[in-house]
Amino acid sequence: MSGGVAGPGVVRDTVRIFDTTLRDGEQAPGAGLTATEKLEVARQLARLRVDVIEAGFPAASDGDFAAVRHIAEEIRGGIAIAALARCRDGDPQRAIEAIKVAERPHLHVFIATSDIHLTHKLRIDRQQALAEAVRWVRHGREQLGRDAEIEFSAEDASRTDREFLLQVYEAVVEAGASTVNIPDTVGYSIPSEFGALVRSVVDRVGRDATVSVHCHNDLGLATANTLAAVQAGARQVEVTINGLGEHAGNASLEEVVMALRTRPTQFPELGTAVETEQIMPASRLVSYLTGFAIQPNKAIVGSNAFAHESGIHQDGVIKNPLTYEIMTPQSVGLSGSHLSIGKLSGRRGLQQKLRELGHEMEGAALDAIYREVIALADVKKEVTDGDLLALVEQRVSEVPASVRILGWNVTSSLGGRTTGLVSLDVAGENRTAEATGNGPVDALFSAVDEALQPALGWHPVLTEYEIKAVSAGEDAQGQTLVRCRRSSDEGPGALIVSGHGLSTNIIEASLEGYLVAINKLHGAEINGLAVGFVGGYSSRAP
Ligand SMILES: [Zn+2]
Repeated sequence: MSGGVAGPGVVRDTVRIFDTTLRDGEQAPGAGLTATEKLEVARQLARLRVDVIEAGFPAASDGDFAAVRHIAEEIRGGIAIAALARCRDGDPQRAIEAIKVAERPHLHVFIATSDIHLTHKLRIDRQQALAEAVRWVRHGREQLGRDAEIEFSAEDASRTDREFLLQVYEAVVEAGASTVNIPDTVGYSIPSEFGALVRSVVDRVGRDATVSVHCHNDLGLATANTLAAVQAGARQVEVTINGLGEHAGNASLEEVVMALRTRPTQFPELGTAVETEQIMPASRLVSYLTGFAIQPNKAIVGSNAFAHESGIHQDGVIKNPLTYEIMTPQSVGLSGSHLSIGKLSGRRGLQQKLRELGHEMEGAALDAIYREVIALADVKKEVTDGDLLALVEQRVSEVPASVRILGWNVTSSLGGRTTGLVSLDVAGENRTAEATGNGPVDALFSAVDEALQPALGWHPVLTEYEIKAVSAGEDAQGQTLVRCRRSSDEGPGALIVSGHGLSTNIIEASLEGYLVAINKLHGAEINGLAVGFVGGYSSRAP
């Protein structure tokens, strides 16, 4: 820029990207992740260069405590690790214990402030809520010291009496909060209104604390509200990959980040540190591990987001991409190439290809993928990008297996019954069972159930089953998604886990997915998985 005037693209201030995929996103029913999966997502968020990773809610379960602790121990490079806690004795202590080993601990305490929440949920009055907020912010500051980030959220802020809300924010900043968060917990605000609310908070405490926003998407306005907040002075945004979250989800990281980047004149002198080329790998990973598919027309990361089908569009884009493209596919990490990888590419070629797709692999992990690619190339004409990503993802979600398949057989014919036979290794013991069903997958799943019931005292109950082709062509690999709960675990709070299978044989892929889910359920019984929230309070917090 010439002329001495700061033009678009000149960054003088940054918007802090606070990713809560692993906390708020994971609250979405059925999105539960194991500790290993959470760590894998955290590593990708680190590659994406978010500023804060909210890793979980340590007071919820021992499993979630351990997951947050692992992430706090491992993630470095200036990225803060946040943990959520209610303003209630026990919660903040647990959160502090989990994050104090982080390079940059970020404690996030919250309490509801709206009359509707105070009266009906917490059954306390405004002054009691204010006192608890101040008490736990002060506790966090004392325990974590001067340099730590202490964030306070007023749950249901957008429906809280304005003057009381400002009073709470003033008091917590006085008590040591360095960030105050304004959640639109029920997704009720509209942009002009939310922007005005944010401005009033910035005016009151913006000099002494960072003002943050946390928007839900119940009216489809989470991204719009978040951007209005930034224009009103918010300098932290709480977002999730793919907009994951309960009900209609949270503001989506990719939408907010790409809007800031694509429209610099609307956000003068503001930037983020995000490596946008890592958006697609992050999106795929989160979708895969949670089993939440992305709608094709989802902004930024949907499979059609950069597709140009109509002739007029195609013609324009070929002549000059700017005619119809406001962002390049490369800027969000779509490689643009669909080159297939042959048998002769070698380990280095494979490593390079994986790097282009956003996966850094070396050593034993690279060797293992390489062997799988070679094996796949034997049964399939070409191994595509989609195949490679599916193989990498399949490894990421590996769980310790106490139940293994030793063998299976199925007979099925037109008009005849389908009979499946399976032989399993259940914690070292050989179990065989036979069952009939509506088709080969059903018969085999029933046989697995019968083999497991006497050994474990429960069998898996299928709640969802999907199969899709990873790539085009008649020799494509089939990828299955299987969701199950335990037969002994019923009701609304039941633990539901997902498992994936991948094979050119769809029966094989189905059984593989079923076994992954079974091993997760079994692991949860033994160790406590890092999933879900404890009951007894608003599930949608903050
Ligand atoms: Zn939320």
